[in-house]
Amino acid sequence: MFKLPSLPYALDALEPHISKEIMELHYVKHHGSYVDNLNKALQDHPKLAEKPIEELIKNLNDLPETIKTAVRNHGGGHLNHSLFWESMTPHVGGSPSLALAKTIEETFGSFEQFKNTFNDAGLKRFGSGWVWLVQNHQGDLEIISTANQDNPITDGYKIILGNDVWEHAYYLQYKNLRAEYLKNWWNVVNWEIVNKRYN
Ligand code: MN
Repeated sequence: MFKLPSLPYALDALEPHISKEIMELHYVKHHGSYVDNLNKALQDHPKLAEKPIEELIKNLNDLPETIKTAVRNHGGGHLNHSLFWESMTPHVGGSPSLALAKTIEETFGSFEQFKNTFNDAGLKRFGSGWVWLVQNHQGDLEIISTANQDNPITDGYKIILGNDVWEHAYYLQYKNLRAEYLKNWWNVVNWEIVNKRYN
C-alpha cells in the first residue's frame, strides 16, 4: 500500500509564492487521488504494491499490460509529487553547491540562463506535464519536459529537480500566467535537497 507522504512544512508555508489554497487542493486532493488510484490499480498485485514507487516507475515497461497505464499515470503522479514537495522549502537563502553551480555554468552558460531555459521548457509544455533538470546516461545535465505524469527515470535519467506545470499547480493563484508561476517558484526551491540529489 502506498501512502501520502507527510508534507515537510505547513500548507501556508510557501506563501506568497504558492498559496495555501493551491496546496490544500494540490497536496491533499490531487496527490491523495493519485495514491488512492495507484492502490486500487495494484489491489490484485500485492507484491508490486510493496515495492518502492521509484522501482515501479523505473521498470514501468516490465509491468503487466493490464496495470501499466494506471501505474504510469497514478504511480507517476505519486512519485512526481513526492519529489516535488521535498524540492520546496519556506526557508529562503539556499543555493546550488559549488559543484552543481560549476556544472550549471558549464552546461547552460550561467545560472540565469539555466533558469531561463528551464522556465522556457516549462512554458512550452503544451497541456499538462513537468519540466525537469536531470542527469543523462553520461552524467551530463539536461533540461527536459514530460507530458502528464511521466517521469524521466523511466528513460534512464536521474532526477535533480522538477517543477509541476499542470494548471492545478498554479491556476487558482496565477490564472493563465504560467510564466509568472515558473519565475516565482525559484523562491521556494530547496537547494539542500537538490544538491544532495546531484551528489
Ligand atoms: Mn500536480
